[in-house]
Amino acid sequence: MTQTAIEIRGLQKTYRSGRGAPEKHALKGIDLDIPAGSVFGLLGPNGAGKSTMINILAGLVLKSAGQVKIWDFDQDINPRQSRAAIGVMPQELNLDPFFTPRGALEVQAGLYGVPKSQRTSDEILRLVGLEDKAEAYARTLSGGMRRRLLLGKALVHHPQILVLDEPTAGVDIELRQMLWENMRKLNRERGMTIILTTHYLEEAEEMCDEIAIIDHGEMVARDSTANLLGQLDTKTMIVMPEAPVGTLPYAPGVEVNQREDGTLAMSYHANDTSAEDVLELLRQKGIRIRDVKTEQASLEDVFLSLTKSSA
Ligand code: ADP
Ligand code: MG
Repeated sequence: MTQTAIEIRGLQKTYRSGRGAPEKHALKGIDLDIPAGSVFGLLGPNGAGKSTMINILAGLVLKSAGQVKIWDFDQDINPRQSRAAIGVMPQELNLDPFFTPRGALEVQAGLYGVPKSQRTSDEILRLVGLEDKAEAYARTLSGGMRRRLLLGKALVHHPQILVLDEPTAGVDIELRQMLWENMRKLNRERGMTIILTTHYLEEAEEMCDEIAIIDHGEMVARDSTANLLGQLDTKTMIVMPEAPVGTLPYAPGVEVNQREDGTLAMSYHANDTSAEDVLELLRQKGIRIRDVKTEQASLEDVFLSLTKSSA
Protein backbone atom coordinates (compact mmCIF):
# COMPACT_ATOMS: atom_id res chain seq x y z
CA MET A 1 0.00 0.00 0.00
CA THR A 2 1.40 3.35 -0.96
CA GLN A 3 0.73 6.23 1.32
CA THR A 4 0.00 9.62 -0.17
CA ALA A 5 2.52 12.28 0.85
CA ILE A 6 0.59 15.18 -0.63
CA GLU A 7 -3.05 15.36 -1.61
CA ILE A 8 -4.21 18.44 -3.50
CA ARG A 9 -7.84 19.04 -4.48
CA GLY A 10 -9.27 21.90 -6.51
CA LEU A 11 -6.32 24.14 -5.71
CA GLN A 12 -6.69 27.69 -6.97
CA LYS A 13 -4.67 30.82 -6.56
CA THR A 14 -5.58 34.27 -7.71
CA TYR A 15 -3.06 37.04 -7.13
CA ARG A 16 -4.66 40.44 -6.71
CA SER A 17 -2.24 43.08 -7.86
CA GLY A 18 -4.35 46.07 -6.77
CA ARG A 19 -4.47 49.50 -8.39
CA GLY A 20 -6.78 48.30 -11.13
CA ALA A 21 -4.20 45.83 -12.41
CA PRO A 22 -5.82 42.60 -13.62
CA GLU A 23 -6.00 39.63 -11.30
CA LYS A 24 -3.64 36.79 -12.07
CA HIS A 25 -5.24 33.36 -12.00
CA ALA A 26 -2.01 31.46 -11.31
CA LEU A 27 -3.58 28.08 -10.40
CA LYS A 28 -6.89 27.10 -11.95
CA GLY A 29 -8.04 24.09 -9.96
CA ILE A 30 -5.29 21.52 -9.57
CA ASP A 31 -5.92 17.96 -8.35
CA LEU A 32 -2.78 16.02 -7.58
CA ASP A 33 -1.67 13.10 -5.42
CA ILE A 34 2.01 12.62 -4.76
CA PRO A 35 2.94 9.15 -3.49
CA ALA A 36 5.10 8.82 -0.40
CA GLY A 37 8.64 7.68 -1.07
CA SER A 38 8.76 8.94 -4.64
CA VAL A 39 10.91 11.49 -6.36
CA PHE A 40 8.31 13.66 -8.02
CA GLY A 41 8.93 16.29 -10.68
CA LEU A 42 6.78 19.35 -11.19
CA LEU A 43 7.48 20.66 -14.66
CA GLY A 44 6.22 23.58 -16.66
CA PRO A 45 7.34 26.63 -18.58
CA ASN A 46 8.12 29.90 -16.84
CA GLY A 47 5.08 31.39 -15.17
CA ALA A 48 3.17 28.08 -15.21
CA GLY A 49 2.49 28.25 -11.47
CA LYS A 50 5.11 25.86 -10.07
CA SER A 51 6.48 28.16 -7.40
CA THR A 52 2.99 29.28 -6.46
CA MET A 53 2.04 25.66 -5.86
CA ILE A 54 5.17 24.94 -3.84
CA ASN A 55 4.84 28.09 -1.80
CA ILE A 56 1.28 27.10 -0.94
CA LEU A 57 2.52 23.68 0.19
CA ALA A 58 5.17 25.39 2.29
CA GLY A 59 2.61 27.67 3.90
CA LEU A 60 4.29 30.76 2.41
CA VAL A 61 1.44 31.71 0.06
CA LEU A 62 -2.26 31.55 0.94
CA LYS A 63 -4.40 29.58 -1.47
CA SER A 64 -7.59 31.11 -2.86
CA ALA A 65 -9.57 27.86 -2.93
CA GLY A 66 -9.13 24.12 -2.57
CA GLN A 67 -7.73 21.64 -0.13
CA VAL A 68 -4.16 20.62 0.65
CA LYS A 69 -3.25 17.64 2.81
CA ILE A 70 0.37 17.08 3.74
CA TRP A 71 1.18 13.69 5.24
CA ASP A 72 -2.56 13.37 5.86
CA PHE A 73 -2.78 16.65 7.77
CA ASP A 74 -5.15 19.19 6.29
CA GLN A 75 -3.32 22.48 6.01
CA ASP A 76 -6.32 24.44 7.28
CA ILE A 77 -7.20 22.09 10.14
CA ASN A 78 -3.72 21.06 11.32
CA PRO A 79 -1.40 23.82 10.11
CA ARG A 80 1.37 23.02 12.58
CA GLN A 81 1.55 19.29 11.77
CA SER A 82 1.25 19.80 8.05
CA ARG A 83 4.05 22.34 8.13
CA ALA A 84 6.26 20.07 10.21
CA ALA A 85 6.05 17.31 7.60
CA ILE A 86 7.58 19.40 4.84
CA GLY A 87 10.93 21.10 4.31
CA VAL A 88 11.38 23.57 1.48
CA MET A 89 14.52 24.67 -0.29
CA PRO A 90 13.53 27.93 -1.98
CA GLN A 91 14.94 29.17 -5.23
CA GLU A 92 16.15 32.55 -4.00
CA LEU A 93 19.29 32.69 -1.87
CA ASN A 94 17.72 34.43 1.10
CA LEU A 95 20.23 33.95 3.89
CA ASP A 96 20.99 36.18 6.83
CA PRO A 97 24.59 37.31 6.11
CA PHE A 98 25.45 37.47 9.80
CA PHE A 99 24.87 33.83 10.63
CA THR A 100 27.40 31.06 10.21
CA PRO A 101 26.09 27.86 8.62
CA ARG A 102 25.87 26.19 12.04
CA GLY A 103 24.16 29.27 13.45
CA ALA A 104 21.67 29.37 10.58
CA LEU A 105 20.77 25.70 11.14
CA GLU A 106 20.35 26.24 14.88
CA VAL A 107 18.10 29.27 14.36
CA GLN A 108 16.01 27.35 11.85
CA ALA A 109 15.72 24.42 14.28
CA GLY A 110 14.59 26.86 16.94
CA LEU A 111 11.90 28.26 14.63
CA TYR A 112 10.56 24.75 14.14
CA GLY A 113 10.70 23.98 17.84
CA VAL A 114 13.23 21.17 17.48
CA PRO A 115 14.55 20.42 20.97
CA LYS A 116 18.34 20.70 21.40
CA SER A 117 18.61 16.94 21.98
CA GLN A 118 17.10 16.25 18.55
CA ARG A 119 19.20 18.70 16.57
CA THR A 120 21.62 17.22 14.07
CA SER A 121 23.40 20.31 12.75
CA ASP A 122 26.77 18.57 12.39
CA GLU A 123 25.29 15.66 10.47
CA ILE A 124 23.46 18.05 8.16
CA LEU A 125 26.60 20.13 7.59
CA ARG A 126 28.42 16.95 6.66
CA LEU A 127 25.65 15.86 4.32
CA VAL A 128 25.75 19.14 2.37
CA GLY A 129 29.55 19.31 2.49
CA LEU A 130 29.82 22.40 4.68
CA GLU A 131 31.50 20.91 7.75
CA ASP A 132 34.65 22.96 7.02
CA LYS A 133 32.57 26.13 6.78
CA ALA A 134 30.50 25.56 9.90
CA GLU A 135 31.78 28.77 11.51
CA ALA A 136 32.23 30.94 8.42
CA TYR A 137 30.00 33.95 7.90
CA ALA A 138 27.29 33.41 5.30
CA ARG A 139 28.45 36.47 3.36
CA THR A 140 31.81 34.76 2.76
CA LEU A 141 30.16 31.66 1.27
CA SER A 142 30.07 31.08 -2.48
CA GLY A 143 26.74 30.85 -4.29
CA GLY A 144 27.01 27.07 -4.36
CA MET A 145 27.72 26.87 -0.63
CA ARG A 146 24.72 29.11 0.09
CA ARG A 147 22.51 26.86 -1.93
CA ARG A 148 23.79 23.83 0.00
CA LEU A 149 23.10 25.66 3.24
CA LEU A 150 19.52 26.30 2.09
CA LEU A 151 19.18 22.56 1.53
CA GLY A 152 20.53 21.97 5.03
CA LYS A 153 18.02 24.45 6.49
CA ALA A 154 15.17 22.56 4.84
CA LEU A 155 16.24 19.43 6.72
CA VAL A 156 16.61 20.62 10.34
CA HIS A 157 13.16 19.51 11.50
CA HIS A 158 13.51 16.03 9.92
CA PRO A 159 10.59 16.42 7.50
CA GLN A 160 9.16 13.40 5.66
CA ILE A 161 8.84 15.48 2.50
CA LEU A 162 11.52 17.63 0.93
CA VAL A 163 10.55 20.19 -1.69
CA LEU A 164 13.13 21.87 -3.91
CA ASP A 165 12.21 24.77 -6.17
CA GLU A 166 14.53 24.76 -9.19
CA PRO A 167 17.40 23.40 -7.10
CA THR A 168 19.94 23.32 -9.89
CA ALA A 169 18.96 26.40 -11.92
CA GLY A 170 22.12 28.23 -12.86
CA VAL A 171 24.49 26.03 -10.82
CA ASP A 172 27.65 24.43 -12.16
CA ILE A 173 27.87 20.76 -13.06
CA GLU A 174 29.72 19.81 -9.90
CA LEU A 175 27.10 21.32 -7.60
CA ARG A 176 24.31 19.84 -9.69
CA GLN A 177 25.86 16.39 -9.26
CA MET A 178 26.19 16.95 -5.53
CA LEU A 179 22.57 18.07 -5.17
CA TRP A 180 21.39 15.07 -7.20
CA GLU A 181 23.51 12.82 -5.01
CA ASN A 182 21.99 14.35 -1.87
CA MET A 183 18.46 13.95 -3.19
CA ARG A 184 19.04 10.30 -4.06
CA LYS A 185 20.60 9.62 -0.68
CA LEU A 186 17.73 11.21 1.22
CA ASN A 187 15.21 9.34 -0.90
CA ARG A 188 16.86 5.92 -0.82
CA GLU A 189 18.39 5.84 2.63
CA ARG A 190 15.75 7.74 4.56
CA GLY A 191 12.71 7.10 2.40
CA MET A 192 12.17 10.82 2.11
CA THR A 193 9.63 11.95 -0.48
CA ILE A 194 11.30 14.43 -2.81
CA ILE A 195 9.40 16.96 -4.89
CA LEU A 196 11.32 19.18 -7.24
CA THR A 197 10.46 21.74 -9.83
CA THR A 198 12.77 22.07 -12.75
CA HIS A 199 12.83 23.38 -16.26
CA TYR A 200 15.77 21.11 -17.05
CA LEU A 201 14.01 18.17 -18.60
CA GLU A 202 17.19 16.18 -18.41
CA GLU A 203 17.07 16.58 -14.63
CA ALA A 204 13.51 15.28 -14.48
CA GLU A 205 14.40 12.36 -16.71
CA GLU A 206 17.39 11.52 -14.54
CA MET A 207 15.80 11.98 -11.13
CA CYS A 208 12.03 11.64 -11.15
CA ASP A 209 9.86 8.53 -10.86
CA GLU A 210 6.73 10.49 -11.66
CA ILE A 211 6.02 13.80 -13.27
CA ALA A 212 3.26 16.38 -13.44
CA ILE A 213 3.40 19.03 -16.13
CA ILE A 214 1.55 22.26 -15.50
CA ASP A 215 0.97 25.07 -17.96
CA HIS A 216 -0.93 28.32 -17.41
CA GLY A 217 -2.07 27.10 -13.99
CA GLU A 218 -3.53 23.85 -15.28
CA MET A 219 -2.24 20.31 -15.18
CA VAL A 220 -1.65 18.99 -18.69
CA ALA A 221 -0.01 15.67 -17.84
CA ARG A 222 0.56 13.42 -14.86
CA ASP A 223 2.26 10.06 -15.27
CA SER A 224 5.32 8.00 -14.54
CA THR A 225 8.41 9.30 -16.29
CA ALA A 226 8.63 6.06 -18.26
CA ASN A 227 5.03 6.34 -19.48
CA LEU A 228 5.44 9.96 -20.46
CA LEU A 229 8.53 9.08 -22.43
CA GLY A 230 6.71 6.18 -24.06
CA GLN A 231 3.79 8.42 -24.95
CA LEU A 232 5.34 9.86 -28.06
CA ASP A 233 5.66 7.40 -30.89
CA THR A 234 8.61 9.15 -32.49
CA LYS A 235 11.53 6.77 -32.68
CA THR A 236 14.97 7.39 -34.03
CA MET A 237 17.21 4.71 -35.43
CA ILE A 238 20.87 5.61 -35.50
CA VAL A 239 22.72 3.75 -38.22
CA MET A 240 26.47 3.63 -38.74
CA PRO A 241 26.98 2.76 -42.44
CA GLU A 242 29.82 0.52 -43.62
CA ALA A 243 30.91 3.21 -46.10
CA PRO A 244 30.25 6.96 -46.25
CA VAL A 245 26.83 7.74 -47.71
CA GLY A 246 26.65 10.26 -50.56
CA THR A 247 22.96 10.85 -51.14
CA LEU A 248 20.72 10.45 -48.13
CA PRO A 249 17.97 7.87 -48.55
CA TYR A 250 14.47 9.23 -48.68
CA ALA A 251 11.06 7.73 -48.01
CA PRO A 252 7.75 9.22 -46.89
CA GLY A 253 7.42 9.09 -43.13
CA VAL A 254 11.15 8.78 -42.47
CA GLU A 255 13.22 11.85 -41.72
CA VAL A 256 16.90 11.23 -42.34
CA ASN A 257 19.70 13.40 -41.03
CA GLN A 258 23.41 12.82 -41.23
CA ARG A 259 25.30 13.52 -38.02
CA GLU A 260 28.85 14.79 -37.75
CA ASP A 261 30.19 11.35 -36.89
CA GLY A 262 28.81 10.00 -40.18
CA THR A 263 25.85 8.17 -38.63
CA LEU A 264 22.39 8.48 -40.12
CA ALA A 265 19.65 9.49 -37.70
CA MET A 266 16.39 8.13 -39.08
CA SER A 267 13.27 9.35 -37.28
CA TYR A 268 9.87 7.82 -37.85
CA HIS A 269 6.48 7.42 -36.22
CA ALA A 270 6.19 3.92 -34.85
CA ASN A 271 2.42 3.94 -35.46
CA ASP A 272 2.85 4.32 -39.23
CA THR A 273 6.29 2.96 -39.95
CA SER A 274 8.04 -0.11 -38.64
CA ALA A 275 11.71 -0.59 -37.90
CA GLU A 276 11.65 -3.15 -40.70
CA ASP A 277 10.46 -0.43 -43.15
CA VAL A 278 13.41 1.73 -42.16
CA LEU A 279 15.89 -1.12 -42.60
CA GLU A 280 14.33 -1.98 -45.96
CA LEU A 281 14.87 1.60 -47.12
CA LEU A 282 18.58 1.25 -46.34
CA ARG A 283 18.77 -2.06 -48.17
CA GLN A 284 17.11 -0.60 -51.27
CA LYS A 285 19.74 2.13 -51.37
CA GLY A 286 22.49 -0.45 -50.98
CA ILE A 287 23.58 0.98 -47.65
CA ARG A 288 25.24 -1.68 -45.53
CA ILE A 289 24.91 -1.34 -41.78
CA ARG A 290 27.93 -1.62 -39.53
CA ASP A 291 26.07 -0.78 -36.36
CA VAL A 292 22.60 0.28 -35.31
CA LYS A 293 20.90 1.55 -32.17
CA THR A 294 17.67 3.34 -31.33
CA GLU A 295 16.95 6.50 -29.39
CA GLN A 296 13.68 7.09 -27.59
CA ALA A 297 11.79 10.36 -27.59
CA SER A 298 13.10 12.70 -24.94
CA LEU A 299 11.05 14.32 -22.25
CA GLU A 300 11.68 17.54 -24.14
CA ASP A 301 9.62 16.23 -27.07
CA VAL A 302 6.78 15.26 -24.74
CA PHE A 303 6.96 18.56 -22.94
CA LEU A 304 6.86 20.60 -26.13
CA SER A 305 3.98 18.61 -27.56
CA LEU A 306 1.96 19.21 -24.38
CA THR A 307 2.73 22.88 -23.78
CA LYS A 308 3.14 24.39 -27.24
CA SER A 309 -0.59 24.56 -28.06
CA SER A 310 -1.25 27.13 -25.36
CA ALA A 311 2.02 29.09 -25.63
P1 ADP B 1 6.64 29.37 -12.15
O1 ADP B 1 7.27 29.09 -10.83
O2 ADP B 1 6.05 28.17 -12.79
O3 ADP B 1 7.56 30.10 -13.07
P2 ADP B 1 4.98 31.21 -10.65
O4 ADP B 1 4.18 30.38 -9.71
O5 ADP B 1 6.13 31.95 -10.10
O6 ADP B 1 5.38 30.34 -11.92
O7 ADP B 1 3.99 32.28 -11.31
C1 ADP B 1 2.75 31.93 -11.87
C2 ADP B 1 2.05 33.20 -12.35
O8 ADP B 1 1.66 34.00 -11.25
C3 ADP B 1 2.94 34.09 -13.21
O9 ADP B 1 2.15 34.69 -14.21
C4 ADP B 1 3.42 35.13 -12.25
O10 ADP B 1 3.70 36.35 -12.91
C5 ADP B 1 2.26 35.28 -11.30
N1 ADP B 1 2.70 35.64 -9.94
C6 ADP B 1 3.56 34.96 -9.16
N2 ADP B 1 3.70 35.57 -7.96
C7 ADP B 1 2.91 36.67 -8.00
C8 ADP B 1 2.61 37.72 -7.07
N3 ADP B 1 3.16 37.76 -5.85
N4 ADP B 1 1.75 38.70 -7.47
C9 ADP B 1 1.18 38.67 -8.69
N5 ADP B 1 1.40 37.72 -9.60
C10 ADP B 1 2.26 36.72 -9.28
MG1 MG C 1 9.26 29.36 -10.14
